Amino acid sequence: MYVCVDFNAVREFHNGEYSKQTFLNYPRVMLFEFQLSAPRADFYNITSKVREAIAKSGVAAGIAVVYCPHTTAGITINENADPDVVHDLLIGLDKAFPDRAEFRHAEGNSAAHLKASAVGSSATIIVNNGKLVLGTWQSIYFCEFDPPRERTFFVKVVNCL
Ligand code: ZN
Repeated sequence: MYVCVDFNAVREFHNGEYSKQTFLNYPRVMLFEFQLSAPRADFYNITSKVREAIAKSGVAAGIAVVYCPHTTAGITINENADPDVVHDLLIGLDKAFPDRAEFRHAEGNSAAHLKASAVGSSATIIVNNGKLVLGTWQSIYFCEFDPPRERTFFVKVVNCL
């Protein structure tokens, strides 16, 4: 279901004019790309993928930005213990953003665009001691509002104290 492509930004410094010491001293900033098959409107738990990116980056303290480059999907953080919460969120979003006859967008998926804007296209999570700082009941979700789609999301891990 998931494929990880590792864009190791630091690699450029290996091949460039920078010395080994410059490379070692350079703050780690790494970008990871993931592919996701989204056959239905749902919230897909991507927390393990974000953890995978952080582990590969080697960053112990910093931030992770999880970003979705789509206009009818989003990223959010919410409850992971009771699956009924995601079920209810989907129903709530359907109620809040129904299809309307007066919509003009020719593709016919304006409700999905509205939901994507409401949820937002990214989440920023603190990384501490090499781990995501998430509450016990929190997970990171890719929100699909216009299925079925083959989707992409990015995780940018930035080393900072
Ligand atoms: Zn559209």
